[in-house]
Amino acid sequence: MGKKLGELLLEHGLLTPEQLKEAMVEQEHTGAKIGDVIIRRGLLKVDDIEEVLSRQFATPSINLANYMPSPQVLSLIPEWYVRENLVVPVSLKEKTLTVAVADPRDFRIIDELGFMTGKRISPVVAAIFSLKEAINGFYGEPTDGFEEESSGTDDFKIPRSYKSYADIKLPEIFSGIGSLPKKDAMNALLKAADSGRFSHLHFFRVGSQVTVKIRRSGRLEGSFKPPVHPAMELLQFIKSRAGILTREGDPFKGTFRIQHGESWFSVSISGMPFDEGEHIVLELTKAKNGPALHLKDLGMTTKMLSTYKGALKRDFGLFLYVAPILSGTTTTMHATLRDIKSRFGLSMAYEAPAKDFIEGVIHIDPSQTPHLDPIDGLRVLLAQDADLILIGDISSPEAMRAAIQASLGGALVLARAKDTSPFNFITRMARAGISPTLMASAIVGVMGQRLLDRLCPHCSREYVPTSRVKEEVEEMTGLAAPQLMRASGCKECAKTGKLGKIGAFELITNAKLLQKIIMEELDDSKVRELAAKEGINLIHYDAAIKAVEGLVSFEQVKGTL
Ligand SMILES: [Zn+2]
Repeated sequence: MGKKLGELLLEHGLLTPEQLKEAMVEQEHTGAKIGDVIIRRGLLKVDDIEEVLSRQFATPSINLANYMPSPQVLSLIPEWYVRENLVVPVSLKEKTLTVAVADPRDFRIIDELGFMTGKRISPVVAAIFSLKEAINGFYGEPTDGFEEESSGTDDFKIPRSYKSYADIKLPEIFSGIGSLPKKDAMNALLKAADSGRFSHLHFFRVGSQVTVKIRRSGRLEGSFKPPVHPAMELLQFIKSRAGILTREGDPFKGTFRIQHGESWFSVSISGMPFDEGEHIVLELTKAKNGPALHLKDLGMTTKMLSTYKGALKRDFGLFLYVAPILSGTTTTMHATLRDIKSRFGLSMAYEAPAKDFIEGVIHIDPSQTPHLDPIDGLRVLLAQDADLILIGDISSPEAMRAAIQASLGGALVLARAKDTSPFNFITRMARAGISPTLMASAIVGVMGQRLLDRLCPHCSREYVPTSRVKEEVEEMTGLAAPQLMRASGCKECAKTGKLGKIGAFELITNAKLLQKIIMEELDDSKVRELAAKEGINLIHYDAAIKAVEGLVSFEQVKGTL
């Protein structure tokens, strides 16, 4: 706060050095704020102190006791932020929000408030103790629970245009170049996440060194070392957005949603201290209105989409979605749920907190039932007599068994498992003691999936592949003289050559074929052979066709499958 209040009052001749000394002794003794002591001792009135502050900051002062802001105005700033930073929204006139603050030169707070409310912030100065009194008057005395209740559910809007942020590189965002304001840094981050430049950022702070690793398309790809202070300050800013009020060195986790252009993003930040430092993970994902919310948006061929929709017309059975992590199966399952839920009376989802909320589906988070282990939780859920059930993880035999029972009991169960292919998963379950006969009677469809980067349409060009690559593509697709595309990178794709994602799929719903695969525990290569005979193309074909169509690079197809 720059100069201490006591010094200021002394300077203005409002207190004698003796009075200040006595007040400071009491302050030290009681731990009260100096302003409170001066008021209580009757040395000065609130107005006097605020006038001094006002003159000091060349900012108008306000006597908060004379104000009762409207509920709409109060609701502009979340309560946790008001209490944490001692700010009080006073009035709103068109786009200008008047806010009482202790120190109008604290640009961090002014910036954050502007960012949070989307308004122009006009600060007025008030003394700390009268801010506290006003906050308790307007919001009530703080209760122990308020921090938790308010954590991370606020939606913030940034009324801005974003084009310029595309040019800011990730390391620059965390280096505080040109003292980039926090809200601009945040916008640049959203822009970077939106154009696929990262999904997660990992910050490893050891002493005064920070190393940042970048995860994109499921892989940890690059790293950079920003200066420690600007980087940690920006993380602190994001933490406060997420409603995290823990002390430094405590583990934490929080999420909030933020709008960027037409899209909403879910921003999660979590941290774990270790001996000499801490590990912080920042995750930015599209929350709503993402590119792949309905089945038609996922990138399935027309033929596969119609087969899939046909298979989903049934009322019960088990549909398996099997892929390694970060392959986009959650997106596929949510799109499916969205498209078919209206046919079912009661729909439930049992999975870790979803990135996007699906209206009309009861959502249960396994981690929120700590008294039950996930399998028991799943059994309780399955006893709820739902018609349509989404299960986030059935990778264990116990969970698989529960899912089979639910589907044989009359529900349509969409269940996700982590494995390299559906066929490997089925074989693994059979070896773990799940009866193939039971699986064969429950499973009505299996889907495998990988997530590929879409080539940027603005800078992708055809090229002549080597004869070896050409042969390989011909063999995978059965097409003669296939054409391939490459992207060199441009402004639209932040020089990455990639813009958005597309799925590569394999789908088997043919009952006879499924039965044979399950009962004979066939491995991937045998399944592929058999499927080809039935005219069913598996994931390698689907991905290679997408390369020939110029949607993805062939290098990526080879690298992902
Ligand atoms: Zn491009």
